[in-house]
Amino acid sequence: MSAHINRIVMHHSAGALEPSAFDLQHYHRMVTGSGKVLDGKFPISANAIGRKLAPGTYAAHTRNLNGGAIGLALAAMADAQWGDPRACRAFPTRLQMDAFIVEAGRLCLEYGIEVTRQTVLSHAEVQITLGVTQAGKWDFDYDPYGILDSRDPVLIGDMLREKIRAAMGAAPVVATPGPAPTRPVLRRGSTGADVGDLQRLLGITQDRIFGPATQAAVIAHQKAHQLLADGIAGPATWASLERN
Ligand SMILES: [Zn+2]
Repeated sequence: MSAHINRIVMHHSAGALEPSAFDLQHYHRMVTGSGKVLDGKFPISANAIGRKLAPGTYAAHTRNLNGGAIGLALAAMADAQWGDPRACRAFPTRLQMDAFIVEAGRLCLEYGIEVTRQTVLSHAEVQITLGVTQAGKWDFDYDPYGILDSRDPVLIGDMLREKIRAAMGAAPVVATPGPAPTRPVLRRGSTGADVGDLQRLLGITQDRIFGPATQAAVIAHQKAHQLLADGIAGPATWASLERN
């Protein structure tokens, strides 16, 4: 963890989806309705622990909790009414939320901030979790994705932290290959559905009987693919047939 920055507080600006210059004074980063990430007026270093927070020299985003804390805000929720947050004319967009989550994760990685209830939290969680009194701040005691009906800030916060962790660990999803289908070893005299499959892969008549024609086709395939030309369809021959 950085010695000077150890926390992110997540806010909504109570402004429009495109922030004003006034909005930008209060936060280090703002995410717009179209998912753009903007720098606020003050750099994150202006809130470093150990720095004297003289008025007008740092981003004042959370009462008595600005030292060491990054203010990350959604440009959103202008004229919002607590009773029906979703009815607001600047409710966060999906694009905005996704960019917000990615930016939070990026900041955690850059500053070595662990994603915990104490270190990455919404403004509405500050009083509940850290006991630092705020004046009725409700960003976010609603789900800014507009999905959860809960008004519990910690439950909403847990959901956001989960997404932030996922964004930080995001790696391309690699499909794990399942076990290869097991194929029996087939030879002259074998019969059945697997022989039919073998014949299909060899491109010959599928009579499901491993006779001389099938054996000749297996040998031809083996020779063509630098396999032991024994006329027996074992694992290497099956694998070669299924690749080719
Ligand atoms: Zn706030």
